[in-house]
Amino acid sequence: MNLKELQNDWINAFSQPLMIAGPCSAESESQMLETARRIRETNANVPIFRAGIWKPRTKPNGFEGVGVIGLNWLKKVKEEYGFKTATEVANAHHVFAALEADVDILWIGARSTVNPFTVQEIAMALRGTEKTVLVKNPVNPDLALWIGALERLLGQGIKNLGVIHRGFSTYQKTKYRNNPNWQIALDFKSQFPNIPMLIDPSHICGNRTGLADITQEALNVGYQGAIIETHSNPDEAWSDASQQITPEVLSDLIGNLKVRSTDLAGFEGDMGRHRTLISDIDFQLIELLSQRMKISEKIGKLKKENDIAIFQPERWKVITEYATQKAVETGMSKEFIEKIFKAIHEESIEVQNNIMIDR
Ligand code: PEP
Ligand code: MN
Repeated sequence: MNLKELQNDWINAFSQPLMIAGPCSAESESQMLETARRIRETNANVPIFRAGIWKPRTKPNGFEGVGVIGLNWLKKVKEEYGFKTATEVANAHHVFAALEADVDILWIGARSTVNPFTVQEIAMALRGTEKTVLVKNPVNPDLALWIGALERLLGQGIKNLGVIHRGFSTYQKTKYRNNPNWQIALDFKSQFPNIPMLIDPSHICGNRTGLADITQEALNVGYQGAIIETHSNPDEAWSDASQQITPEVLSDLIGNLKVRSTDLAGFEGDMGRHRTLISDIDFQLIELLSQRMKISEKIGKLKKENDIAIFQPERWKVITEYATQKAVETGMSKEFIEKIFKAIHEESIEVQNNIMIDR
């Protein structure tokens, strides 16, 4: 059996979109029970409660999770409020402890998905169980690594699988904590339409304001659900405080979601996916143009220092030639690319002029 043949019926036990909510980290029994109670009291349809018990932190000496004691609190959440429960596992010990404590769903975090040894260890510890395992995308934009992690789980007989899109780290500061890079997740979705995909807007946004838009965008392109960090007192959270929301805000967010058809063969799903890809590419085009203009500034400085004229007809000829040739090679009209490059060139001259005359 390969990944494409998996049925992944586990998701059908839940109505869709499937919502998973709960704190980034389990902190205390009262924090867990209060968060669970308040989610229940909103009547929002949230069947699964999440909480990190072991926390992978970028730097040492921070809060690294409460450890196994938190598993008892997850159990209480299940018993008292009827949630299924979910937590992150990052090694075989975590798996054994979580299995022992009857956690329903396990996920592999972004920092673990990058490491084939870790994934293999987790997969082997799960062998012979029927657990549902969700695999977050790796922190780096590598589709093969993400798929490889699922193959390792399937290789050990784990067949109830799903993925979580939580965005990718970048060195550049952007408005996201982790750049969504939708194209990678949508490539995954095109290759494995049967594997349920959830969005993790919390770790993509890193703040509270973008959560609803990212979640809606994901539903528009046919994701089956979301995992959203929710805390009884977000401002005081011991980890990821800035992105967590209260149960009441969560409930509003869920209430305002427009549930689109999840039928990927449907027109809306296709349209949404194409539009997201276009926005993603536009984002990259703008980034590239900005980098190009910064190089123009450097050229402007060099020309200034060496008293050289800004407009160099020979160079412009070379650019026009390679641009139009590439246009034809890639099936676009020469005229279209000429127009675009004229605009870019004009702006580049403007940027250099500003440098020359110290504007
Ligand atoms: C988390 O879900 O709390 C978490 C640590 O996420 P990620 O692995 O996506 O960073
Ligand atoms: Mn978190």
